[in-house]
Amino acid sequence: MHGEDGDELWCLRVAKKHAEEARRDLVGRGLLDRAHRPRPEGDDLLLPLVEETAGAERAVFTPFPRQEELPRHELVGGIAILQEEDREGAERVLHSRPSLHTVLYPTSPVEGEFRTREFAVLAGEETTRTIVTEHGHRFAVDLAHAYFSARLSTERQRVRSLMQEGERVVDMFAGVGPFAISLADLASLVVAADLNPAAVSLLCENTAMNKKKNVLPMLADAAHLPGIFGRTFDRVIMNLPMESSHFLSAAFALCRPGGTIHFYALQDEEGKYLDVIRALPAAEVTEKRVRSYSPAEWHAVYDIVVGE
Ligand code: SAM
Repeated sequence: MHGEDGDELWCLRVAKKHAEEARRDLVGRGLLDRAHRPRPEGDDLLLPLVEETAGAERAVFTPFPRQEELPRHELVGGIAILQEEDREGAERVLHSRPSLHTVLYPTSPVEGEFRTREFAVLAGEETTRTIVTEHGHRFAVDLAHAYFSARLSTERQRVRSLMQEGERVVDMFAGVGPFAISLADLASLVVAADLNPAAVSLLCENTAMNKKKNVLPMLADAAHLPGIFGRTFDRVIMNLPMESSHFLSAAFALCRPGGTIHFYALQDEEGKYLDVIRALPAAEVTEKRVRSYSPAEWHAVYDIVVGE
């Protein structure tokens, strides 16, 4: 039946505290009607169904507005990140894709040495942890405790496409390991360092989950790596866009002559770091725009071939 107040449908009555679990179960069984808004009733939530099932009852539900009216959001695995603190919109986003379990809103900028941010949960499960699938790899991420950006996946594939089989790679600011693990497919060894214990813990988990036996996770300050490894790497990844330039001489002390450093920087003018790079033994430098950061700033990558 279709009325002015909504549509009469089969539904399951569940206690609010078990609603998320029940919702996931119904999604898994293909029974949840995602076109209608679940209805609260006291301590219960009525979950609309696409057909009758054991224990179902009838109730009237309001349809969600059309999908294109969803608020703007970014997807990271099973998490959607909203740009506005819009709880009603968050519910609609949550119900728009069966793969989503949580909708977050950032309550702080990306900040501090670990480049992390704080979040409020607007809808779904109370978690900032999820699994991201990217080009055949799976990464456990925890957005509140370790940096991760899905927007760099194309850049990771670009770097991978430049590699020769058997290269020795060092990722100086590895985070949870998306560069390190992607490049480990072709490398003989990837040393992956980070200062953040939570990031290194996820990096270890991701190394195991992707069955990599050639990734060496390290809880270490990148500045100490040359003293441990010397100039033994064919490729160096430097993804600490606000401050990478402070570590350029350490990167040169890690990269063999003829090897390549990928230096990421946040900048507001073309070629901002060319003079700093050319003061070091760089044989060749190519600069590219990776993605915009604000109307006036963008993330650039400088591919530096190291000279003698
Ligand atoms: N490369 C990763 C990625 O693309 O997801 C993470 C990049 S994130 C922008 C920078 C990382 O560098 C953070 O995880 C932070 O904890 C780490 N970091 C900051 N200072 C560091 C240092 N001196 N040595 C090692 N890691 C550092």
